[in-house]
Amino acid sequence: MPTLLVAILADQLLREHPALTYAAAQADHSDIHVVLIESQARLQLRPYQRHKLVLVLSALRHYAAALRAMGWQVSLRTADSWRAGLSDACAQINPDSIVTMAGAEYNARRAQERWATWFGRPVVVLPNRQFLAADVPAAPGAKRQTMEAFYRGMRTRYQLLLEPDGSPVGGSWNYDAENRKPLPKNTPIPPVYRYPSDAITQQVITEIAAYPDARGDATTFGLAVTHAQADDALERFIRERLPDFGRYEDAMAADEDVLFHSVLSPYLNLGLLDPLTCARAAEAAFRAGLAPLTAAEGFIRQIVGWREYMYRRYWELMPGLRGMNAWNATRPLPAWFWQGQSGMHCLDTVIARVWRTGYSHHIERLMILTNFCTLAGIDPVAVNEWFLAGYIDAYDWVMWPNVSGMGLNADGGLIATKPYISSGAYIKRMSNYCAGCRYDPAVRTGPDACPYTLLYWNFLLTHQPRLQANPRMGPAVLGLRHVDDDQRSAIQTQAVIWLERLSEGTEQ
Ligand SMILES: Cc1cc2nc3c(=O)[nH]c(=O)nc-3n(C[C@H](O)[C@H](O)[C@H](O)COP(=O)(O)OP(=O)(O)OC[C@H]3O[C@@H](n4cnc5c(N)ncnc54)[C@H](O)[C@@H]3O)c2cc1C
Repeated sequence: MPTLLVAILADQLLREHPALTYAAAQADHSDIHVVLIESQARLQLRPYQRHKLVLVLSALRHYAAALRAMGWQVSLRTADSWRAGLSDACAQINPDSIVTMAGAEYNARRAQERWATWFGRPVVVLPNRQFLAADVPAAPGAKRQTMEAFYRGMRTRYQLLLEPDGSPVGGSWNYDAENRKPLPKNTPIPPVYRYPSDAITQQVITEIAAYPDARGDATTFGLAVTHAQADDALERFIRERLPDFGRYEDAMAADEDVLFHSVLSPYLNLGLLDPLTCARAAEAAFRAGLAPLTAAEGFIRQIVGWREYMYRRYWELMPGLRGMNAWNATRPLPAWFWQGQSGMHCLDTVIARVWRTGYSHHIERLMILTNFCTLAGIDPVAVNEWFLAGYIDAYDWVMWPNVSGMGLNADGGLIATKPYISSGAYIKRMSNYCAGCRYDPAVRTGPDACPYTLLYWNFLLTHQPRLQANPRMGPAVLGLRHVDDDQRSAIQTQAVIWLERLSEGTEQ
């Protein structure tokens, strides 16, 4: 019988890992060595939010314990790098071959291709089973599938919210138009549930608290770290939040971190939760009369639509996606993204939330953070770096298509069909941020002008011909008809000064 080394990456904590199933069919349990690595190089690659580090490390250690309890021989190793850790494991175990599952991230997969050379033995790389959509890039020159077409295909393939004849339940594939309500005052919101830390998590918190360059307070960690806890988080979401998820999906509130969102992305992205299980749970809640169709459809669209679409587009566009900069945005990220204050209530609240919790919901990521960065012409690489450091659910495969694609339109529209930009008016309509702000979202120029509003009109003026050519942006550009020459020049003059100060890091 051969000796096999099963190498499981830290974001592949699957209940039924294909590499284990494969190995069990080839060798006796006693000849299979499962290797998990805590790579110090990876953990300290950037100034990560400590909650993310605690989550990843604690989940990994719990996974190792769960595999041991199932009878696997597990070696959980701390190493300077993944390569060093696996090299030591090979020297010690001397396996006939290595079995692994393809990484979700580009760099991980490129490294796996080199393992055979690095470690001098055959490597079996199994297809990635964490996603429902294939990661095979479309043939060169193939017409790009829109997200909506992709999503309908996924609903059909996985028989989600369908009538027996294959048509969508309720007669429509998409209820997005009904899911854009601001939050009425005094809406009761379920409290965010926190999972108590056991001895493993406590130990990880102590270790991560000592990382010199990491950010945030590890001791306030309360995320799920096991499959059972992630299942519980899903159940609680379905019961407590899903019914209102759809209607308030785009709403923002200064004093609420989560509203009716699920906070399931950290678990999905680590393999603790399976996307189809989440989608089916939402459908079951709808069919049992516990959630409206608009909510269940909206949630399912996020999971089997957007999430899978982003993964697929990542693989179609890598590695070029990292270098795309369609708007030639070169301004450095303002220092106050890391520390300090911008003076804008919405931005300061969302940034503080990220360093406190590692989370903000989709519309805050899109319409507060990347909206600002697009309007201010911030370098996409710097924005990606910040998101990768700050968020508990950030991984290369999901960050680049969301930040560079959907958020900054740096891909020139290869992922989303229009730049997601707005003035302060949108923020005022969808949130209560503006009430606590020194700026006025309705004012374009002068000392009270909301920077979003100033920079939005400046962006339209600067890029008018290009925006006009986009059918989805045409109506926004038409608004310029009502801006006379004096106003145009005032907007552009003030924007130049504002942006210069931003680059210099001067107080606004
Ligand atoms: C600028 C920007 C950065 C983002 N960075 C990340 C990231 O680092 N990691 C990440 O998982 N998502 C990212 N997203 C997508 C989305 O914002 C998050 O998945 C979502 O906010 C996670 O919170 P939630 O679990 O409460 O989501 P919910 O609102 O409850 O949505 C349910 C699930 O749908 C999935 N989902 C929805 N939209 C997307 C999307 N566009 N891409 C991928 N999955 C999606 C997530 O798995 C999420 O858990 C980003 C979006 C933007 C605009």
